Amino acid sequence: MRTENTTTAAATAEAPTLLIRGGRPYGEDVQDLLLEGGEIRAVGTDLEAPAGAEVIDAEGCIVLPGLVDLHTHLREPGGEEAETVETGTRAAARGGFTAVHAMANTTPVADTAGVVEQVARRGDVAGWCAVRPVGAVTVGLAGERLAELDAMAGSRARVRVFSDDGKCVHDPVLMRRALEYVKSFDGVIAQHAQDPRLTEGAQMHEGVVSAELGLAGWPAVAEESIIARDVLLAHHVGSRLHVCHLSTAGSVDIIRWAKQRGIAVTAEVTPHHLLLTDEKVRQFDAVYKVNPPLRTAEDVAAVREGLADGTIDIVATDHAPHPRDAKDREWDQAAMGMTGLETALSVVQSTMVDEGRLTWRDVARVLSEKPAEIGRDEDQGRPLAPGSPATVLVWDPRPVRIADPGEHASRSRNSPVAGLELPGANRLTVLAGRPTVRDGAIVEHP
Ligand SMILES: [Zn+2]
Repeated sequence: MRTENTTTAAATAEAPTLLIRGGRPYGEDVQDLLLEGGEIRAVGTDLEAPAGAEVIDAEGCIVLPGLVDLHTHLREPGGEEAETVETGTRAAARGGFTAVHAMANTTPVADTAGVVEQVARRGDVAGWCAVRPVGAVTVGLAGERLAELDAMAGSRARVRVFSDDGKCVHDPVLMRRALEYVKSFDGVIAQHAQDPRLTEGAQMHEGVVSAELGLAGWPAVAEESIIARDVLLAHHVGSRLHVCHLSTAGSVDIIRWAKQRGIAVTAEVTPHHLLLTDEKVRQFDAVYKVNPPLRTAEDVAAVREGLADGTIDIVATDHAPHPRDAKDREWDQAAMGMTGLETALSVVQSTMVDEGRLTWRDVARVLSEKPAEIGRDEDQGRPLAPGSPATVLVWDPRPVRIADPGEHASRSRNSPVAGLELPGANRLTVLAGRPTVRDGAIVEHP
């Protein structure tokens, strides 16, 4: 077990010298990478292996900066039967992530400096990836008064992303104040855009399928109206807005409109909204119950298009583990949410790269560089160049296998891609010089 040094310092002390031979950085020309002392020491062709270096054959593999997830539910404190910082960060590492932003809807809620520092510390102790706590916008996620944003920003956890995710900051005055407040420390409000009145009792996307199944619907306008309001508010106060898990074609249009006007808005899409539609609900398997809900094929096409043309900035997992008894229930009683950390890159490869919509260079942008930038994390998403931290992923795009949540490191099994054939395998993940995953398996600490 690691002591409470910073992750970087502890990792550097035990960083082996690794020569990653014959991979393709960003999916481009073949280049070797030499990792030494926790840094990328050299990038080039036919690099000499220094004495004592381990040579890793990366022929045919893609080399990327370690992935960064802006939207992870680690569930600790309070939800340890679903996930812990330890199990969730192991899952992250297996997925190729080297940093996750841990959402605030824990018990207690991460709405004080004390709780965010506790979460960050547990991440350091676990050591599988960097854990950046997200702070709540309002006290107890109750939507009534602002939490101590300033204290969380100034704490050792250096919080820059604030969100009531799971709930929408619905009061426009409170949303305005939150946006104004975070300007002083360059923070961002990440909004879960869902009008609560328009979605009371909603069970799935409102449309043809919900009408046929007789389930209460969740209209697209419940998401779009909040996004439209919030981009205007962000523009009015000159602050940064981030839109969580955007899921409808109309939402893509609004973000496109806002960006054309120079409004400082960024947006994310989840792997499941890139892949699945509300047709899945016909199976009445609660693994497909999620917030926001799975939408239509037209919406899936629009979010793919939006990600391809840069309207949507990033992919974020919204990894939302639940214990079996919260999901093995009647549809209307089951919990909302899906796991995603361990399959995110495979889904992005299959829906976006293999279909010619994104290059691997784009994947580095949407799954590493941009999320690090939005979260103001300078240790992540760095260029694959000498002097950068040795925080990298070696990804083999060739293997195809059936996704099996039974093999996952997450404590929960509610994966919406279980049983699907997905491409790609994590050959090696390195966090600040220390391997965390080799050939898909966690590298246990010495
Ligand atoms: Zn959410």
